[in-house]
Amino acid sequence: METIESRSIFSPATGYIRRGGFDFTCNPYLGCTFGCKYCYAKFLPQNKIPRELWGKWFSAKRNAVELARKEGKKIAGKAIYMSSVTDPYQPAEREMLLTRGILREMQPHQPRVVIQTRGTLVTRDLDLLTRFQNLRVNITLGSDSEAVRELIEPKSPPYEKRWLTSHQLKAAGIKVGICITPVLPLDNPDQFAERIIAFGATVVVTQGFHDAGGAFGADTSLDALKVAKELAWNQEKYRKFVEYLRKYIRVYEGEKGFFPP
Ligand code: SF4
Repeated sequence: METIESRSIFSPATGYIRRGGFDFTCNPYLGCTFGCKYCYAKFLPQNKIPRELWGKWFSAKRNAVELARKEGKKIAGKAIYMSSVTDPYQPAEREMLLTRGILREMQPHQPRVVIQTRGTLVTRDLDLLTRFQNLRVNITLGSDSEAVRELIEPKSPPYEKRWLTSHQLKAAGIKVGICITPVLPLDNPDQFAERIIAFGATVVVTQGFHDAGGAFGADTSLDALKVAKELAWNQEKYRKFVEYLRKYIRVYEGEKGFFPP
């Protein structure tokens, strides 16, 4: 782990985040120790560490909270995506408290916020989250199979813990999005779909595995594609799963699902 000095903490949104209607992204860290095999962030040019070490390092922006205080006025009422190239509730956040500090500084300016995370630590900050008028927590929940999680995202929290977190957020009155992005191989697609339908998320987003020939940001990594192939997961099964969900709830696919509250 290293700490770095950052020039800014709210960066103008780009790409699909911008197209979705966000004004800024906010990344308290670079790198991410959840280390998902399909992660596109490892391909970013600003990550100087070799790609094969993705998931084994992170840098903390030591002046993140101070910057959030200084830059607060520019985000008043604006739409912020937190985070686009890291997970704001990766394990280091328990000690570093950067995400918490940024939220505390943002709150008086009432931006519209999406927090995108696999981290169950997000419930620690319920006291702050409930003070935002427009905020949604998107929980990424890719599968119903712990065996698949072990293969593809072994350092991220178990799915049952993420479900529990989703319920706790919802019970506290927070809007919750369920992001099955990407939909990883499923043990029982119908049962998983029923569970998502029953949860009553504010937004449900899905994304299939796809091979864009290495185009940045659009590809699913070869490691993850290999696992999908081994488990006979394919586009047809993905489509069937989405169509089942669509009989009962609205489903956004891919970047269409990433918009501010
Ligand atoms: S949690 Fe997000 S940023 Fe971290 S490795 Fe997984 S996909 Fe990448």
